[in-house]
Amino acid sequence: MEIYAIKGDICYSKDIHKIVVSKDSYVVCKDGLCAGVYKILPKCYEMVPCYDYSGKLVIPGLVDIHMHAPQYTFRGLGMDMELIDWLNTHTFVEEAKYEDEEYSNKAYDIFVEDLKYSATTRACIFGTIHHKATSELMKKLENAGMCGYVGKVNMDRNSPEYLCEKSVNQAVEDTKKWIEEVKDLKNIKPILTPRFIPTCSDKLMESLSEIQKENKLPVQSHLSENIGEIEWVKDLCPDTNFYGEAYYKYNMFGGDCPTIMAHCVHSNDDEIELMKKQNVFVAHCPESNTNLSSGIAPIRTYIEKGLKIGLGSDIAAGSTLSIFNAMAMAIQCSKLRWRLVDQSLLPLNIDEAFYLGTKGGGEFFGKVGSFEEGYEFDAVVIDDTSIKSARELELKERLERYIYLAQDQYIIAKFVAGNKVFGK
Ligand SMILES: [Zn+2]
Repeated sequence: MEIYAIKGDICYSKDIHKIVVSKDSYVVCKDGLCAGVYKILPKCYEMVPCYDYSGKLVIPGLVDIHMHAPQYTFRGLGMDMELIDWLNTHTFVEEAKYEDEEYSNKAYDIFVEDLKYSATTRACIFGTIHHKATSELMKKLENAGMCGYVGKVNMDRNSPEYLCEKSVNQAVEDTKKWIEEVKDLKNIKPILTPRFIPTCSDKLMESLSEIQKENKLPVQSHLSENIGEIEWVKDLCPDTNFYGEAYYKYNMFGGDCPTIMAHCVHSNDDEIELMKKQNVFVAHCPESNTNLSSGIAPIRTYIEKGLKIGLGSDIAAGSTLSIFNAMAMAIQCSKLRWRLVDQSLLPLNIDEAFYLGTKGGGEFFGKVGSFEEGYEFDAVVIDDTSIKSARELELKERLERYIYLAQDQYIIAKFVAGNKVFGK
């Protein structure tokens, strides 16, 4: 049994309403699980090893439930288009390069290294259609000590010839090969990844649904991101009443199939109702939605209706891996929505945004994203002491400031599922 304690200024969420703060306290890890937060260590833990991070912020690892690893190469570039043009002009051209092992290795090494030293401990990640490159990415993430899900992307229509499954049979064969290639990984698991309805034929969706049933895999995809995209899906799927139904009819929309849908910017009432009923997770990606002029997702509505919500960086429609940045932008975008669109929906506050980026998205992984007892022990230590200010800040103010500053260089240690990934 491995037990240790971390000492520092601890912040975490129990619920969406309030960040819990505990200055100069201990959080105990026992066999990879959190064994509680204590002002004074109980007798039974007095002798356990202790990492002393006194004066530093200690928070649960952040959770990123939507991003595209191959797009990290062009982060911060090409933000001058809306979704479909952006995909055709920038994204597909880049993703095609991952057929080349040398290129994919080089690119994924950089991505994994940066993710390792970020505050993110868990992530749900899209690869490309290439099963070998995707398996290699997963091995690199596992070796870096991360936890999460990665998907080989599937797309067989409305895609350029150079980035398109050769046939449904080939897609099925490649997907099965990929599942086999990664079956021994412990912390990085496969997640079925139809890119989105416009690029997935009915036949492909049917086949993926079969694979889902056989292997009990979760699913990630995109939903109602852009108005033009939604109109396109209406044309492509005349037998469905709304976009989400196009996944639902293949049993890849929650229920027995844990599902993350990115964006949900323009979901209608029926779609929201179905997401709620099926426990579909909404991956809110405010920076991406801004960069691609998609719109502002009604997150306050989703919170009020009790939907499952987490945050996504959506690299590379989002420019940064930082989920702190996603928290700040979730608040900022909600303010614009309140001011410009609907004044009945109050903006998000810091407590809510922090919850979404930790425990909210963490729920997709089980008990993840909090320091409550029994939660998997993901922790990040931040040395904010060198951020200069003449003013004395309360502990919660220090966290709030850090969320807006979001500078990775102050992260000095990271623990994932009880294992130290880096730090003294
Ligand atoms: Zn995406």
